[in-house]
Amino acid sequence: MNNFPWYYFLRTIRARIILVILASTLTYIICVNYTEYIFSKVLIVMAVLSTFSIVQGVLKILPLGKTLAKIDQIQIDLPHDKKLGLIYQKNEWVLIQEMLGLTEKYILEQKEKIKTQKIQSNTIIESIPQPIIWVDYYFNSLQYNKSFKQSFVQGEDTKVLYDEKLWKIFEQKEILDLFEKSKQTDTVHHLKGILIKGNYYDIAVTPIISTDKEHTGLLGIFHNVSEAKLTEKMRVDFVANVSHEIRTPLTSIKGFSQLLLAKKEDTPPELHTSLERIVTNSEKLEDLFTNLLKLSVIEAQYEIRPEEFELKPLISSISANLKGKYKNHNINLAQKVSGKIFADKKLFEHAVTNLLDNSIKYAEKESVEIKIEFNNHEMHSELSIKDNGPGIGSSDIDRIFERFYRVKGEAKLPKADGSGLGLSIVKHIINKHRGKIKVKSEVGKGTEFTIFLPTV
Ligand code: ADP
Repeated sequence: MNNFPWYYFLRTIRARIILVILASTLTYIICVNYTEYIFSKVLIVMAVLSTFSIVQGVLKILPLGKTLAKIDQIQIDLPHDKKLGLIYQKNEWVLIQEMLGLTEKYILEQKEKIKTQKIQSNTIIESIPQPIIWVDYYFNSLQYNKSFKQSFVQGEDTKVLYDEKLWKIFEQKEILDLFEKSKQTDTVHHLKGILIKGNYYDIAVTPIISTDKEHTGLLGIFHNVSEAKLTEKMRVDFVANVSHEIRTPLTSIKGFSQLLLAKKEDTPPELHTSLERIVTNSEKLEDLFTNLLKLSVIEAQYEIRPEEFELKPLISSISANLKGKYKNHNINLAQKVSGKIFADKKLFEHAVTNLLDNSIKYAEKESVEIKIEFNNHEMHSELSIKDNGPGIGSSDIDRIFERFYRVKGEAKLPKADGSGLGLSIVKHIINKHRGKIKVKSEVGKGTEFTIFLPTV
């Protein structure tokens, strides 16, 4: 009897009692007032009672009308085959019952579907070998896979992870900044080679946005690159060792040849040209290995030490050194470099020296015009170095940052000595700063290199 509609039943009883009382009172009043025409008396009583019943019926039916309108609305979203069954229903109560049955079935189906989807997505996430974490917009962790747990929370109380802030899992500020950046910009952001618990990872953070443009959180994927890093380090170490080992005998070859040349009177004259060649070529080789060693050291250097410093004194010191090196040139250096830059001072000095050295080295005229301009923007700083040299052709411009790439034809020029590693070193230094370098050039007019460095 629990499901018996008591409220509805009591309302019906109440309505009937009211009707009986009304009928009796009405009959009594009419019988007392009209003694004749019994037929008219019955008609009046019937008319009043019928009107009352109709009004009461309408009032009672109104809520049912609202329910039926709602059902109509729900029907629109129902699949077509399910709608068909309902169209032919005659009785409203049966319709409501059918509808409730259908809705219940539909909800159960959806529930089952969601459950299956959850299992599927969990299986997918679990089967991905990379550590993955899903956090909400306030950086509370929502889900993570086994690999993530093993990599970052192994041996710790795993309960800590759920609903915990990201900063409790990772101490590295860069990681938190990466999630923040992705959240702010609604775009995927990457971080390369970050050290976490003894391993190096490349990280990609993707914002998760639902179909109605609602943010549901951020997905962080961690790619362990320790092995690749180790192989890279071995390669770099090898080059560094070879360069170092070769430089010692090379210095001695150069030294002895110079010694023999210095004692010209003790050496046969026909050997002089050969000795001069030995000296020049050993100098070239020395230069090549010095640059190779520099490049390897920069590559091997994992961490850079950026600091904030005034750029002007640095540029002045570089230009003084270069003016000393190229005494025969008339170097005109115009600079607009007020402000501070955030970079590894030693490496940055190296990069700027290489660029300025090229501007002078490759200049065809004795008089060299160089313009240096520095600007700090909100998110990055920009340093451009522009010269009036021979320029670089469009067929070469895409390749000048490659190792050992030299523009053909310049070998004829005696002063344009080089190993083709200078710009490669510059690019590596800028990459280490997570910056960019761009080049614009016009043959016969000059070249402009622009360095972009992030300020944060
Ligand atoms: P290198 O170490 O031999 O100087 P780089 O890597 O520095 O080699 O430069 C590669 C090539 O780019 C050079 O061969 C040169 O032709 C060209 N180049 C670089 N800088 C300039 C410049 N400022 N003007 C004209 N050509 C340039």
